[in-house]
Amino acid sequence: MKFNEVLENCKIYEAGKPIELVVREYGVDEKDIIKLASNENPYGTSPKVTKKIQELSQNMFMYPDDSMYELKESLASKFSVESENIIVGCGSDQVIDFLVKAKCTKDSKILMSKTTFAMYEIYGRQAGAQILRTPDDEHNLEQFEAMYKEHGADIIFLCLPNNPLGECLDKDEVYEFLKKIDSNTLVVIDGAYQEYASFKDSKKEIKPADLIEKFPNTVYLGTFSKAYALGGMRTGYGIGQLSIIKTLYKIRPPFNITTLSLAAAIEALKDEAFVQKSIELNFEEMKRYEEYATNKGFSYIDSYTNFITMKFDNRYLSSEVAQNLLERGVIVRDLTGYGVNAIRITIGSQKQNTRVFEVLDEVLEELNK
Ligand SMILES: *Cc1c(COP(=O)(O)O)cnc(C)c1O
Repeated sequence: MKFNEVLENCKIYEAGKPIELVVREYGVDEKDIIKLASNENPYGTSPKVTKKIQELSQNMFMYPDDSMYELKESLASKFSVESENIIVGCGSDQVIDFLVKAKCTKDSKILMSKTTFAMYEIYGRQAGAQILRTPDDEHNLEQFEAMYKEHGADIIFLCLPNNPLGECLDKDEVYEFLKKIDSNTLVVIDGAYQEYASFKDSKKEIKPADLIEKFPNTVYLGTFSKAYALGGMRTGYGIGQLSIIKTLYKIRPPFNITTLSLAAAIEALKDEAFVQKSIELNFEEMKRYEEYATNKGFSYIDSYTNFITMKFDNRYLSSEVAQNLLERGVIVRDLTGYGVNAIRITIGSQKQNTRVFEVLDEVLEELNK
């Protein structure tokens, strides 16, 4: 059968491996599996959210409030914007899809960093757009500017901080860059890990209200999947000027998040203490990874997120390290597919991390034989 020809250039997104797969394929006991491949919050869901979901379990027969009134009001007050400036998606992934659909046709160009979030390219290719990448792995705004001058772009994606590497540009340099961008170019600031970055270093913090006021051609993306510990509930949002958000609503399908997701997100916003605690513990535990890498002589990227990217240079193949870890029940993300000889490890709980170091020691010894 013939399909839309743009799909010939589309790849399937490869998600982090699920626990069930490791049980099935390697016979590891489920309780011994440590999943640190999808940047989930290792401290689980806030008990307040869990309680709310239990109360609402009788309500599943009903469609959710499609206006998402309460969630948008809560987000609007958190970010000091109007609720008309917000669109909620089935994960911020879906908002990326809306943005690409709103802006791109077959003649469009999308500019992004060489090693960044895979969904920008996937949605871009579905629209038939041409993908332009800067040469360096990490975000380099001089390169962005040079390529923008040479080729132009309909959309520019900046991932701040960047997944899967963990680096983060300063707000001031981003603003300087934005001044040079044409008002008809949409710039998407993906803030999936902004809660972590702004905790670690206030110079990284991008406030959506300030961003969209100064630069009306930008959209800020946030998600409940990472610091807010709701990856399974698939809820994210975009914040932008009314004219952009209104256009995105033409693309949004009705009821795009579930009744339970909606309630979970509203409740999660009420438990900021849980989020703060998760973020503090994240950076305490991250220090242990930095020490581990230093002791082994590995380099790592200074991370503003809830994961760390450890590089193996010429000493090991990251694919082999990741595979050996997997067979022992530790799931991490190999970055070979991104052209980088490194693994990305989500920072787990103290107990999980201690176990990761033990297993990693074992694996490295095995690979040295
Ligand atoms: C996790 C992530 C998202 C979106 O996740 P959703 O679960 O779809 O909200 C977006 N961008 C980056 C960079 C991410 O890492």
